[in-house]
Amino acid sequence: MSLRSVVKKNSGQDVHLCHACNDCDIEARDEMDIPLSSLVQLILLNDEEALQCRTLWSDSVLEASRGVCKRGLDIHAVLIALREESIRKAGDDSPSSPPFPRRGRESPLPSGEG
Ligand code: SF4
Repeated sequence: MSLRSVVKKNSGQDVHLCHACNDCDIEARDEMDIPLSSLVQLILLNDEEALQCRTLWSDSVLEASRGVCKRGLDIHAVLIALREESIRKAGDDSPSSPPFPRRGRESPLPSGEG
């Protein structure tokens, strides 16, 4: 299944709705390597680089992503779906190292949630 399809299945969000307006580009944070708009574009391209970027694992980005898309895409749900897929793939690739920073437990949710 393509990354775009995985995101749609697991989050209910169709990234084809994205018009590349860049309105979701929140203020840069140290832990971000790519902006949210670029992350959405990677999903559109089925580019699995989206599963390996540091932006995906920033809890402050995750929190700031709520309601950030003016087109109605739930970027928060998209990020959670990407985290879940990254964890799933890391399990498939075991015993090699996961592509994301370990957080002490394997949960797509930030500390204090879930
Ligand atoms: S705000 Fe929404 S439509 Fe605009 S670039 Fe971000 S995801 Fe795409």
